[in-house]
Amino acid sequence: MTTHDDSTAAVADWLANFSAALGRGDVPAASALFGDEAYWRDLIAFTWNIATLESRSGIAAMLLHTLARVQPRNWVLDGEANKGQGVAQGVVQAWFSFETSVGRGKGHVRLKDGRCWTLFTTLQELKGFEEKRGETRELGAEHGAIRGRRNWLDTQAAEAAELGYQRQPYCLIVGGGQGGLGLGARLKQLGVPTLIVDKHAQAGDAWRKRYKSLCLHDPVWYDHLPYLPFPDHWPVYTPKDKMGDWLEAYARLMELNYWPSTECLSASFDDASQQWTVQVMREGQPVTLRPRHLVLATGMSGRPRVPDLPGAALFRGRQHHSSQHSGGEEFAGKRCVVVGSNNSAHDIAADLWEYGAEVTMLQRSPTLVVRSETQGRYGRLLYSEAALKAGVSTDLADLTVASIPYRLVPKFQIPVCAQIQRDDALFYDRLRAAGFQLTFGEDESGLGPMYLRRGSGYYIDVGASELIADGRIALKSGVGIDRLTEDAVVLNDGTELPADLVVYATGYGSMTGWAEALISPEVAEAVGPCWGLGSDTSQDPGPWEGELRNMWKPTRQTALWFHGGNLAQSRHYSRYLALQLKARMEGIDTPVYGLVQPAA
Ligand SMILES: Cc1cc2nc3c(=O)[nH]c(=O)nc-3n(C[C@H](O)[C@H](O)[C@H](O)COP(=O)(O)OP(=O)(O)OC[C@H]3O[C@@H](n4cnc5c(N)ncnc54)[C@H](O)[C@@H]3O)c2cc1C
Repeated sequence: MTTHDDSTAAVADWLANFSAALGRGDVPAASALFGDEAYWRDLIAFTWNIATLESRSGIAAMLLHTLARVQPRNWVLDGEANKGQGVAQGVVQAWFSFETSVGRGKGHVRLKDGRCWTLFTTLQELKGFEEKRGETRELGAEHGAIRGRRNWLDTQAAEAAELGYQRQPYCLIVGGGQGGLGLGARLKQLGVPTLIVDKHAQAGDAWRKRYKSLCLHDPVWYDHLPYLPFPDHWPVYTPKDKMGDWLEAYARLMELNYWPSTECLSASFDDASQQWTVQVMREGQPVTLRPRHLVLATGMSGRPRVPDLPGAALFRGRQHHSSQHSGGEEFAGKRCVVVGSNNSAHDIAADLWEYGAEVTMLQRSPTLVVRSETQGRYGRLLYSEAALKAGVSTDLADLTVASIPYRLVPKFQIPVCAQIQRDDALFYDRLRAAGFQLTFGEDESGLGPMYLRRGSGYYIDVGASELIADGRIALKSGVGIDRLTEDAVVLNDGTELPADLVVYATGYGSMTGWAEALISPEVAEAVGPCWGLGSDTSQDPGPWEGELRNMWKPTRQTALWFHGGNLAQSRHYSRYLALQLKARMEGIDTPVYGLVQPAA
């Protein structure tokens, strides 16, 4: 029987051999330490890219390109190894730290029969540009007697007045939602002059302006922003206005340069000067900005998708996209049709029902539903009080999730999804009996993989499913809309639904749509789609890429970056995006290995 000590010795032995082979520049010996099935996921430590190599030969090729420059060394185990469970039965795994020529990293390894199954390497900080925190924190005050002293407030005011006018930001972030704010905070700590612009009048408005019942669907342990976690008394599910206030306070406390009421209108990159020219409208005044890097943090979902329906212009009631639905107050007693059956559709249908509307949901295709409580129990195990008590910090949870290569995620998730279906069998039976069409993904791998593949197609149930199961929200399933008349929605099975309101909860385009609108169709085409893994499942066409396309990493447009995702992803990956920008600002050599070609 293998003991903990044996496991630790096995990983220490492997790491020593790996380190020695790399130190000798012996790529064949280093790659021979990987198994026949092998993955190496690297977050900018070796590749200056976010990339997964999925074979021994792929790993060898990457090392041949990068090893001489990266000069990895000082591989040290962090703590004890432990044994994998479930799908990872027979695996021994451990955390380690290492250094490169430019930075310090953290990684994770899983061994099977003494050889590496998965390796995960991340760059955590750049040498000489470490964040000032803990013992190295800024003094804050300037002691002594200084004539004409400029205090903190003066410095802040001067910076705010200059940036964007007399002094250009190195980085411009378009979009000041949770994504833009968290990235802005990281860049601030790294000393990268950054400006965030958002078209809303106040930070947090993207949440405040939505329908009344909106709350975060994920529990608080999953939702922290970088540096400033929610306090211990914070409720499990944050209501939208509270989230808005938190984001507004965050912008202030993290001392971010944030221009509200500022819409980005266009951007173009000049190859000669290696600089963007960005036109924004700030409180009605045009301003031209010239940053070196442009980050689109305009929301992972792109522009709202509204179907072009025959008769839409004739319809005399109200019709709007889900993103414009600010609440159901006006629709008490009205007949409302909600087109779609994912998160927004469910939330809006329930919101309208709460106001006394007569609601019908139209479901075109099967939807994945998972109860929020069950999702918390199985899907967010690493983000909980129990995890914290077991020593799993938010950072460690983020790294653990990221350590599993995307190719293997379904394998890990299929048993979880099966367990969820068993636990909630009655709930699912009731939904099916109401005519609701369910899916758990094409390979029954559940919510996580579906989110990575298409970022849509699911509902985390916070109450609307009950309304559907018992018929308080009417459901028409497996049908599409034929046309609208002056006062009704006509379905393609001939049913006519009289309606005062039609809400199109029909989703969003790819984030690349923002690049198309703000920069040009040519740039959008060169960059290719954002999000999705290339899994060749519904709405995620191949080829397989093994990473989320174009997210947080170099794109095929110089100095253009995409940032977004849910709160946990934005928190975690903002670290690597910020380090990529900092390295460029400091003139550190950042050759990108494996820049993906756009799909044909
Ligand atoms: C019902 C519901 C529940 C959710 N629950 C959770 C949850 O529990 N946990 C979780 O992690 N996520 C949750 N999400 C997802 C959540 O929407 C995203 O996590 C988050 O909104 C994405 O943040 P973001 O900053 O990337 O984008 P957004 O919040 O969409 O911010 C983008 C910003 O860009 C600005 N913008 C766009 N174009 C321009 C322009 N041209 N010029 C200037 N500004 C511009 C917008 O004004 C906006 O403020 C939920 C979503 C919904 C709909």
